[in-house]
Amino acid sequence: MPTTTVRGACPHDCPDTCALRITVEDGRAVKVQGDPDHPPTHGALCTKVSRYPERTYHPERVLRPLRRVGPKGSGRFEPVSWEAAIGEIATRLKAIAARDPQAIVPYSYAGTMGLLQGESMAARFFHRLGASLLDRTICASAGGEALAATYGGKVGMHLAHYAKSKLILIWGSNSIASNLHFWTFAQQAKRDGAKLICIDPRRTETADKCHQHIALLPGTDGALALGLMRELVVNDWLDHDYIARHTEGWPALRERAMAWTPERTAEVCGITPDEVRQLARDYGTTRPAAIRLNYGMQRVHGGGNAVRLVAVLPCLVGAWRDPAGGMLLSASGWFKGFRDDAALQRPDLLGTRRPRTINMSTIGDDLLREASPGFGPRIEALVVYNSNPVAVVPESPKVVKGFARDDLFTVVLEHFMTDTADHADIVLPATTQLEHLDVHTSYGHTYLLRNEPAIRPLGEAKPNTQVFRELAAAMGFDEPCFRDDDETLAREALGAGVDAEALRRDGWVKLPLPEAPFADGGFPTPSGRCLIDAPGLGVPDFVPNHESARSTPELARRYPLAMISPPARNFLNSSFVNVASLRDIEGEPLVEIHEADAVPRGIADGATVRVFNDRGSFLCKARLSTRARPGVVNALGIWWRKLGLAGTNVNEVTHQRLTDIGRAPSFYDCLVEVAPAS
Ligand code: SF4
Repeated sequence: MPTTTVRGACPHDCPDTCALRITVEDGRAVKVQGDPDHPPTHGALCTKVSRYPERTYHPERVLRPLRRVGPKGSGRFEPVSWEAAIGEIATRLKAIAARDPQAIVPYSYAGTMGLLQGESMAARFFHRLGASLLDRTICASAGGEALAATYGGKVGMHLAHYAKSKLILIWGSNSIASNLHFWTFAQQAKRDGAKLICIDPRRTETADKCHQHIALLPGTDGALALGLMRELVVNDWLDHDYIARHTEGWPALRERAMAWTPERTAEVCGITPDEVRQLARDYGTTRPAAIRLNYGMQRVHGGGNAVRLVAVLPCLVGAWRDPAGGMLLSASGWFKGFRDDAALQRPDLLGTRRPRTINMSTIGDDLLREASPGFGPRIEALVVYNSNPVAVVPESPKVVKGFARDDLFTVVLEHFMTDTADHADIVLPATTQLEHLDVHTSYGHTYLLRNEPAIRPLGEAKPNTQVFRELAAAMGFDEPCFRDDDETLAREALGAGVDAEALRRDGWVKLPLPEAPFADGGFPTPSGRCLIDAPGLGVPDFVPNHESARSTPELARRYPLAMISPPARNFLNSSFVNVASLRDIEGEPLVEIHEADAVPRGIADGATVRVFNDRGSFLCKARLSTRARPGVVNALGIWWRKLGLAGTNVNEVTHQRLTDIGRAPSFYDCLVEVAPAS
């Protein structure tokens, strides 16, 4: 067979959504490269996806349906036919649905971000069934909802324009590890004289390369934004015309901000008053000034308010007037009108039914709940796809206990035997991105992409779309939409304004959007203004952490270290942890701890330590490092439990309390103690 090159798109939960070129020889994918013609990708991929053939042809791929034969969590399974697996699932789900279909819960997130293999046929299936709805909150809903409340949508600057900025605040983002293609543009700006300032509790690889690093305490970003506002007011670095014409609610916030002197701000944030003053001076006097905010900073109690406060800053100084000024947290709202979720997901299949909604972030508690009038029926079945909740959801002791319930029927669609698959009754082999068709939007740029299948499915693996088609047939769902093939779904996914032919031909199309979208206001709010005072939310404020010396002093005496759990550079959430060459780079699970915290605890570099609080404990190696500031430890994630030390990972100690906006988990709002492991 001739060597061919196939166009694809990276499916992973990363803002960059790279365009791929896959080289196929004799029906086998031998190389995965970045598309040199796709402007955001410019021919480069991260280390993780450059090794995609290693992941695709991994000897431990699940390639046949499996039925559990050992206790839950034991990982003991036997192969079964597709017919037997689908038949057994349909029989079990029918019996539960006859009592109450809400006892069945779909559980999925961004294991693939594809519109087809994510929520298309799967959503149709669960809507038709009347299953519980899932609130998909685990990563970004605090910041996403906060941004939408302020700007009217998840919209922001164009990625490429950062190259022309003269000041870039990289706020809550280790771009080199998790937003590489933004970093390329930031470097270009740096070469042209821009100042780069990293705002992050951890001294990341990105902080190393910036001109300045402001290592604030976790969860104090909102306080810093208020402190900056006061300095902008006091020094009159405000764009009064922009504020008057394009914002609503500034006078009330201005009054609130005036209480945030540099000294008070510095005390709350754990930085110096001069850092506050200098940052405000840089931001108030440099044009164009840009902010790249990322989701790390919103994984705390006050994450939503913090995003609202930071999002106001570009309006106060009129940064939006320039294409290279403004802010980007998410670009996903730009795709509104260019994707058709209703056509794909068919919520009309619910009819008049209004099922309850389960928050994916509190599945640990919810799996252990009995039936009640407030909660509804006890959860009797879970169908998990594109997610690994046993590893990634907070407070794993409860999650594991829930997944281990003998009376819970669990189906998992997967590539590998993850911690979650180990707890399944039936595991179904899923295709990877190289083996199926998909369409992708992005939350870091404004291009739509199409992913062609490059190779035939390995073994007996099937696309998620096909699995839910077969399940629908076995359940007796005979609506014509369950017979749509993937090409039909790919057409249905696109909004009216998309050139489908160009998308098929080139693999990607750029959305037709203005270069400086809010230069003259025009935010997608009802008034076209930035809503500082947002309906139902009021004026934003600093919201302290659930757990901190300030909010819970007694707890902080017992657990004095604040823990954050940012992603390890070579993993993407829990994906890639089982790829040996990437795991070898990471070595072992580790916690970065400053010498000032390690020495009094008798912790040496490389020692095995126990990180613990009242919820649980996990083991890892200590790395004495100035990447951690005193008082804060960084436990890099997210290791599979069974590949970590003693079958644990960082989520043993995180909690299920939610953010102020968006019902999201507050992973980085967590007090712990660290001690040498005995
Ligand atoms: S994970 Fe991100 S940077 Fe890596 S290839 Fe995918 S989209 Fe690109």
